[in-house]
Amino acid sequence: MSIIPQAALTTVQIVSGLAASAKNAVDLAKSTSNTELKGAVSELYDSVLDVKARVLELDEEVRILKAQLVQRDEIEGPDAKFGYFCFKGKPDAPLCPKCYQSIPSKVVNMGPRDQRAGGVMRFCPVCNFRVTEERAHSINRQINYNPYS
Ligand SMILES: [Zn+2]
Repeated sequence: MSIIPQAALTTVQIVSGLAASAKNAVDLAKSTSNTELKGAVSELYDSVLDVKARVLELDEEVRILKAQLVQRDEIEGPDAKFGYFCFKGKPDAPLCPKCYQSIPSKVVNMGPRDQRAGGVMRFCPVCNFRVTEERAHSINRQINYNPYS
């Protein structure tokens, strides 16, 4: 008999205790000549093990989602100018908005500012999303001679 109140136990601890009890029942049932009871207890034990495996999966999923929620509190955005997200206090290290808003959300830093023909751009190293931060000034081509003269 456990002295720890049920509410203080994690779901994994509860289901582990359940599996241990079911195993104990299987061991006790071995001494009986009732094959029907042996079969029923063994079936129950297998089902409990299936539930335990599923609970462990769900527990891991919850752990990951909780970590993502904590991280979300540390990230702000999107900014009005380029739609970037960034860690609070790190506005110069923008995150890829496309990766961040995808499911599952990925936190990926945009690459450095890069001077290209179209202007100053940043590229996402994961999804190649591009943001043009400064457009190249169009060159004013002026014809200062008349080719038909
Ligand atoms: Zn991306």
